[in-house]
Amino acid sequence: MRAITLEPGTPGSAALEEVAEPAAEEGAVLVDGVAWGICGTDAEIIAGEYGEAPPGADRLVLGHESLGRVAEAPAGSGFDPGDLVVGIVRRPDPVPCGSCAAGEWDFCRNGLYTERGIKGLHGFASERWRIEPEFLVKLDGGLGLLGVLMEPTTIVAKAWEQIDRIMARATIAPERVLVCGAGPIGLLAALLARARGYEVIVLDRATDGPKPALVRDLGAAYHAGAVHDVEPAPDIIVEATGADAVVLDAMGHTGANGVVCLTGVSSGGHSVALDAGALNRSLVLENDVVFGTVNANRRHYAAAAEALAAADRDWLGRLITRRVPLDRWQEALQRTPQDIKVVVELGAT
Ligand code: BGC
Repeated sequence: MRAITLEPGTPGSAALEEVAEPAAEEGAVLVDGVAWGICGTDAEIIAGEYGEAPPGADRLVLGHESLGRVAEAPAGSGFDPGDLVVGIVRRPDPVPCGSCAAGEWDFCRNGLYTERGIKGLHGFASERWRIEPEFLVKLDGGLGLLGVLMEPTTIVAKAWEQIDRIMARATIAPERVLVCGAGPIGLLAALLARARGYEVIVLDRATDGPKPALVRDLGAAYHAGAVHDVEPAPDIIVEATGADAVVLDAMGHTGANGVVCLTGVSSGGHSVALDAGALNRSLVLENDVVFGTVNANRRHYAAAAEALAAADRDWLGRLITRRVPLDRWQEALQRTPQDIKVVVELGAT
């Protein structure tokens, strides 16, 4: 079968290759790949900045945003051939730490977790993959290709669960949400914020292309200016750009009792001037919380499946701005300003 593989740490090593069928030890369920969604983490792995091959292997099969159809499943596994499915990305660490032991591998404390297509386990960018039934999630079959949005939706489902928990500390309910970045994570975060009934503003640099209309069609406002121009200051900020200046602006621009949720992984290596004292003063005097969030556990997959099932399918479809066949996978990695989510089609439908 064909798969996109690479040698982690070696830029330019990604290639479409003929590889062996997925190994039986990868799981009892065999899945035909429908699509692979591309995200910033894939670009970092391809650039040689991140990623780890499985023990004993030189190359890693890429891909953590999956969508597939069950080809074979053992009786009693809870899956049947033809089911539309998505694979959970992270596996608990082998120790396991307290979080992993409790099924909260997204809060792993020792860093020994593994991740399909990212860290120590082959991913889903292949014509077929295998998985353990307990790490497979069934989707509403009617979602079709939109199911490829599941993994990024789990990331924002976790982010919102955490924000809700933090917000429970104050009696006054929050009203205004600012989302920084109108990429897939930002737009899906805005979708979940609207579903919670918040007034939502989405900030992005783009002044044309599909983003402004996607935001307005959610019933949210689009803002192509700076964070500090958003007045009155928001109660909650979901930061999804990872851009240094935007991150710092967001941390200093919430209303009282504000929460800033950081979801973007920055590249690092740049220094910016910061008045740390002024930032500290504003965080302290306003009871603000700034927190980071990564990955998602099974509870968030369930919440994301519900959110996708409830969302407008035309709107979700507009997030997938390009579909590229597997043999032209390299085109999928050339981002254009019009792109939101680009997917590689793996053969099955
Ligand atoms: C994935 C997460 C993963 C993180 C770090 C993200 O792109 O969505 O599941 O934990 O990368 O590897």
